[in-house]
Amino acid sequence: MIIIGSGIVGLSAAIRLREKYTSLTIGILESGFLPSGASTKNAGFACFGSVSEAVDEIESAGKDNFLQLVEWRWKGLEKLRKNLGDAVIDFHQNGGYEIFSEDQKEQASKSVSQIENLNSLLRPIIGKHDIYAVNDAKITEFGFAGITTLIENKYEGQIDTGKMMRALTTKAAGLGVQIFNNCRVLQTEQNAGEHVISTSQGNFKTKALIVATNAFAKELLPELEVVPGRGQVLVTEPINKLKIKGAFHYNRGYTYFRNIDSRVLLGGFRDLDIKTEQTTKPGLTDLVQTALEKLLYETILPGQQPKIDYRWSGVMGFGPELKPIVKEVKPGLYCAVRCSGMGIAMGSLLGEQVADLVNF
Ligand SMILES: Cc1cc2nc3c(=O)[nH]c(=O)nc-3n(C[C@H](O)[C@H](O)[C@H](O)COP(=O)(O)OP(=O)(O)OC[C@H]3O[C@@H](n4cnc5c(N)ncnc54)[C@H](O)[C@@H]3O)c2cc1C
Repeated sequence: MIIIGSGIVGLSAAIRLREKYTSLTIGILESGFLPSGASTKNAGFACFGSVSEAVDEIESAGKDNFLQLVEWRWKGLEKLRKNLGDAVIDFHQNGGYEIFSEDQKEQASKSVSQIENLNSLLRPIIGKHDIYAVNDAKITEFGFAGITTLIENKYEGQIDTGKMMRALTTKAAGLGVQIFNNCRVLQTEQNAGEHVISTSQGNFKTKALIVATNAFAKELLPELEVVPGRGQVLVTEPINKLKIKGAFHYNRGYTYFRNIDSRVLLGGFRDLDIKTEQTTKPGLTDLVQTALEKLLYETILPGQQPKIDYRWSGVMGFGPELKPIVKEVKPGLYCAVRCSGMGIAMGSLLGEQVADLVNF
């Protein structure tokens, strides 16, 4: 059995298969020296959506599809926490906050007007009745400038994504899953009931194959509707007496920031130039990095100018629908891709779902 891609989805699929079929030989082919996709480059939000994102998702996908997505995100997070343990992934339920600036008054009031409705829609999934609430007092507590409305979500958390990936890789290896790094899959072909996989290291043969390459899915399966979306991130140096704590959403989910101990991680603004950011290539642009710095220095940490210690980019997989693609593409070839920027939340569940489709 071969899996392509050692991100959260590929590793979760491998672990599930190995637990179900204890004598199955499983190999994961990974193009990077380490897992090189979004699973090692994300923001580590353990979230299921801000209010403005929820409003957008209901408008674009309909209420039932929206609820299905939230359920996958919530159940995926529960699985991740159960499989690895909160201490191992450094999970903390510090809460989530959506902030609206002065020029987003209309969006803010539309979102606030939907809180009651969303709380009752999501109650059966999250099991709580008080998920979202306006809490403007926290604007001053966090020290923001130019923010007029804040919606709190007590049930959001954050993880250390590096620790999560290390734990998943260790768990898979401990179960006997072999991960082949620096092994880029160039193409797959079906031949007499087998899949022949050509890679940068030579050929592999397998009866069953899972493609878990998310944003890169089209390179191997051009028929899939997956469009890459690059996300750029920066992280500050440690900040003395940092006031923010939690996972923060801004601009309908396009922009996000959180504390990592006393540093600020800030990412987003992909919407400023969607076309340029529709790429699987890593890279940073002046346009996005300048917008991130402006938000950091003027709104999040007004009056402070901490140095930026790190910058990076990672690629997400989007498409015409928010729904991930988990299916048998052709006999014996399965895929679990298109996490729409929420694969840390959904990934453990999607990995298990695709593993359960595999039929020997
Ligand atoms: C900046 C950023 C911030 C994010 N923040 C969050 C967040 O806070 N919360 C959240 O839930 N989600 C977040 N996401 C999304 C989340 O990280 C992804 O949805 C998730 O990691 C996808 O996991 P995956 O296993 O499907 O794909 P990936 O982690 O991308 O793994 C795919 C793997 O396939 C490998 N690969 C690709 N092509 C080949 C090939 N031809 N041969 C061999 N190997 C190949 C890649 O190297 C990669 O390791 C964020 C993403 C980004 C980029």
